[in-house]
Amino acid sequence: MTKKESRFVAIAFALLSMAFCACRANAQSGGQVAEKPDRDALYQVSALQALTLGDYYGSVSVGELKRRGDFGLGTFDGINGELIMLDGVVYRAVADGSVEVVPDDETVPFANASFFDVDEKQSVKDVPDFNALRAILDERTAALGRNRFYLIRLDGTFRRVKARSEVKQSPPYEPLAKTMERAQTVFEFENIAGSAIGLYCPPYMNMLNAPGWHLHFISEDRTKGGHALELSVESGELTWDYTDGFFMRLPNEGPFVDFDLTVDQSEDIEKVETKAGER
Ligand SMILES: [Zn+2]
Repeated sequence: MTKKESRFVAIAFALLSMAFCACRANAQSGGQVAEKPDRDALYQVSALQALTLGDYYGSVSVGELKRRGDFGLGTFDGINGELIMLDGVVYRAVADGSVEVVPDDETVPFANASFFDVDEKQSVKDVPDFNALRAILDERTAALGRNRFYLIRLDGTFRRVKARSEVKQSPPYEPLAKTMERAQTVFEFENIAGSAIGLYCPPYMNMLNAPGWHLHFISEDRTKGGHALELSVESGELTWDYTDGFFMRLPNEGPFVDFDLTVDQSEDIEKVETKAGER
């Protein structure tokens, strides 16, 4: 072989082994995640409207959710508590307001997840209630553009947090607004350090999720938390992640398949998201 020929053989061999490695990598992925998840896409399991109609059957594992993000909100199979994913750990706020780490093999009927990459930070101080916080968030959202998703985390000290969770249900399941009348539990934390974590969905998401802001809370020591109904901030740092993509994973069995998801459920969703109920 001449010098030129041997160089050609070496290059051809290198190209062949690269092709072989690429094939193996594809085969090993098993079709689950063919490529790296988009860090700026919001991943959603099912539609909030399906959960609202009473589909509490988990369809995606906590392990899979963690491959799609390190930050998120949602609930678990049988609406077994509020899901809080922060810094890659999935927590459950249990019905009594305590928090536990959830194993990867549990499943979720509805959740959102994404990777939290900091796009901007601002300091906040003396925010008296949820409405005042919403006004701060809405003002910034209006400036940045209302038609994409945003993730926020507010790390700081809170004068008061009123939060809720729910008692796990067993089938047959009823619509969520009806279930929550007896399953919802409400609790309050005072002078507590922690993080409020939030998702903003644009107005056109009204048939798939809840437009506007949805916040969960978890204490700094990761022992207390829930879905935030009311809060008062002493001081904290508000961090934003702009999120320009959307990916939806739909259940392919169970009640989801036959639900009429064209029915407007905004009234029920408003009730479930914001009302403290009787307890
Ligand atoms: Zn919630």
